[in-house]
Amino acid sequence: MPAMPDLAGRIALVTGASRGIGYFLAKGLAAAGAHVIAVARTVGGLEELDDEIKALGGEATLVPLDLADMAGIDRLGGAIHERWGKLDIMVANAGILGVISPIGHVEARVFEKVMEINVISVWRLIRSVDPLLRASDAGRAIVMSSGAAHSARAFWGPYAASKAAVEALVRSWADETKNMPLRVNAVNPGATRTAMRAQAMPGEDPATLPHPSEVAEKILPLASPDLQETGLIFDVRRGRFLRYRLPE
Ligand code: NDP
Repeated sequence: MPAMPDLAGRIALVTGASRGIGYFLAKGLAAAGAHVIAVARTVGGLEELDDEIKALGGEATLVPLDLADMAGIDRLGGAIHERWGKLDIMVANAGILGVISPIGHVEARVFEKVMEINVISVWRLIRSVDPLLRASDAGRAIVMSSGAAHSARAFWGPYAASKAAVEALVRSWADETKNMPLRVNAVNPGATRTAMRAQAMPGEDPATLPHPSEVAEKILPLASPDLQETGLIFDVRRGRFLRYRLPE
């Protein structure tokens, strides 16, 4: 992995920046010099992030947006184009767990919501900003996945299906862009001390898990202009890329 990059002059968009892993990814990108476009629904969380970024001497643009608002995602690309003409870093981090339940008991609206936020909004964001990432001399895309995409664990069906789907999107997109400067990777952050993990594992002692700031620090080098890899999954706990394939 490249060392933590100097991102001065770079524009970085982070979804799910109001708390958890996304909050610290946004903060870390700003600390490295990037102008951060921070997306989430919770204005209080975004404002807290903005205060922290300002205290570091950095800059952020706050975008309160529900990622179920597909037209809003479409507008984001246009707004970034007008203001900066490019996007250097896209972090599609926002996600929801849905429900931990036998597949046959999952309500349709819950399954659909998980797919809407974890898959369809990510595709829509990719579609919105792909030309802007291609316009960068070192576009970097980071899409948050999960070990659930590969594990075969009872009761995690909707979430696991959504993360497997988003990894497939990443692989296709990476193959489409492999001859360009753009690098596109998924990340499995591993169990992390956040609200989502507490919802999934209410009996677990959060103190046994890594803090999201530690996890974010290990993901940030994926935003480096020096990164070579594309179409892979970075496994934070193992500290390496899992190399199952780009097509020959
Ligand atoms: P959190 O629940 O702590 O944070 C989720 C973030 O996503 C929040 O900022 C939330 O913002 C945002 N978000 C959720 N729904 C929407 C929506 N409809 N519109 C806009 N933003 C939304 O999650 P984590 O930090 O734990 O997870 C981050 C990513 O890492 C997720 O993709 C998750 O699947 C993945 N992951 C996490 C693991 C863990 O152990 N924590 C393990 C493996 C993967 P707001 O509510 O303000 O809109």
